[in-house]
Amino acid sequence: MAASFMFHNGKELLQRCSENDMPIWDVMLHYEMQMSPRSKEEIWKMLEERLQVIFDGVDAAIENPELSPSGMVGKNTPLLAKGVHDFKKLEKELLLNEACIRAMLGAVATGENNARMGVILAFPTAGAAGVLPGVIYGAKFKLDLTRDQMVQMMLTASAIGVVIANTATLSGAAGGCQAEVGSATAMAAAALTEVRGKSPETSLHAASLALKNMIGLACDPIGGLVEVPCIKRNGIGAVFAMSASDMAYLGVESFVPFDEVVRAMREVGDLMSPKIRETALGGLAMTPTGQAVAERMGLLNIGDNPCSK
Ligand code: SF4
Repeated sequence: MAASFMFHNGKELLQRCSENDMPIWDVMLHYEMQMSPRSKEEIWKMLEERLQVIFDGVDAAIENPELSPSGMVGKNTPLLAKGVHDFKKLEKELLLNEACIRAMLGAVATGENNARMGVILAFPTAGAAGVLPGVIYGAKFKLDLTRDQMVQMMLTASAIGVVIANTATLSGAAGGCQAEVGSATAMAAAALTEVRGKSPETSLHAASLALKNMIGLACDPIGGLVEVPCIKRNGIGAVFAMSASDMAYLGVESFVPFDEVVRAMREVGDLMSPKIRETALGGLAMTPTGQAVAERMGLLNIGDNPCSK
């Protein structure tokens, strides 16, 4: 009987890894081959092209920064890019290492490129599109990753996304920002941990540690635009993913297994008021600052957000 690479939850994912003696990324590659008519080579090529979309988006925002039509975002990519450029001078003042500053840059640049209608890879959604690029951008520098390793990261992250989508949701409208930036952070944490040579189990611990840290996070975009707080939230989410990965790398385990963490995230999402689920009717969206922007843009109470469409 042909081997099965199908999985619906973290436990089954670990089983497939163990049965086939494969890391998560390879199980995900075979899962995709079973689910789609594409060959291994076609899937790999597609992912390489999408990886290039990630880097092109980051480069575009760095090389040609631009304010978004709302005027809320677009000026932070140059600040972070300067931090990377001058890192040697700033090293004694900054608390984080260069890989973290680069991760924040990659994440924020992706979000700012999205806000000015640049091309991005929604991974897993447009609103949360910066976390994995940020982590890849920072890790590439620190770990000298090859293109193949970065593609492997995309596959590992995808497997975690599949589990979350099956058990809970990746949509801010359904589960709040914990489901978007929270999920992206878990996906990136697992990817980073596995590419550093750790086991599938340790990678799932990293995903759990990251997601637990995001549980309860509201979706509260000002004016319903995927700008504030989304973009900086991605930047800090990328560093959260690195923290969770380092914790797991050092042997710290999540007390609560990954599948239970994902179910808890879904339950918290179900408990959330619709006002903090992408309607822009609560949280930061309803602060005086948020309302003033929405009113100026004619966006007050639009109750709609393109984030996860
Ligand atoms: S729109 Fe909501 S869910 Fe999406 S990134 Fe912004 S705050 Fe998070």
